[in-house]
Amino acid sequence: MIKLEKVKEEKKKSKLLFLIKGADEIFANTIRRLIVEEVPTLAVEDLEIKDNNSALYDEMLALRLGLIPIKTDLGSYTLKEKCKCVGAGCARCELKMTLKASKKGYVYAEEAKSTDPKCSFVQEKMPIVKLISKQKVDVQMTAILGQGKTHIKWSPGMAFYKHEPVLKVGSVKNPDLVVEQCTDGVFEQKGSKLIVVEEKVYDSNLLEHYAALDNGISLEHTDSILFFVESWGQLSCKEMLSTAGEILQEKVEEMEKLI
Ligand SMILES: [Zn+2]
Repeated sequence: MIKLEKVKEEKKKSKLLFLIKGADEIFANTIRRLIVEEVPTLAVEDLEIKDNNSALYDEMLALRLGLIPIKTDLGSYTLKEKCKCVGAGCARCELKMTLKASKKGYVYAEEAKSTDPKCSFVQEKMPIVKLISKQKVDVQMTAILGQGKTHIKWSPGMAFYKHEPVLKVGSVKNPDLVVEQCTDGVFEQKGSKLIVVEEKVYDSNLLEHYAALDNGISLEHTDSILFFVESWGQLSCKEMLSTAGEILQEKVEEMEKLI
């Protein structure tokens, strides 16, 4: 049986770290790929530039707008190819947004207006373009649900994993050297003794290096998998994981029918 154990959740930074027990890398990698490639989000796909005499070419402005994360309500939107309107475009598969600005200075993401108050650009202070006097932009945008496998702009975030590391400290010959080389807070020195700061171990990328430094330091890995999720803001980490689970289930059911 698979067990999940939450290690750390940073809601402000949209980061989640948990342990998977009783599953192998194949399972972890499946979830990772589903998150990056299949969990859908909203992103600007079509736009009409009515006016743009800013320093950015129309194409560059369009590219920037496409890459800005939009808060996504998965309950209200469906993928266009699965929508009842059969690709014609309706309120279930399209979100309309506008951006109109003519004030000197930076134009920020918060200035864009969305027809759905639940779904607008996530980062309010993300700069889109800088205007000087007499410059303006006037853009009408259509955002649709899409998947990271089509274009990375629809990817909801990052996911990666590794086996759970266990760092042990015995009698260390040269603790001063280890502390000097330790840049991520994994070790603390108390007198002549070296102490492992456990909460820093999971985040460290230097554990192999520390183990190679001194025979008194050993690094082992358990069968459990440490899974990291970071959201770009469209969905919460939990939504990313639960949607990945739903997609996996759909895929398994589809395969069952074929067999
Ligand atoms: Zn539709």
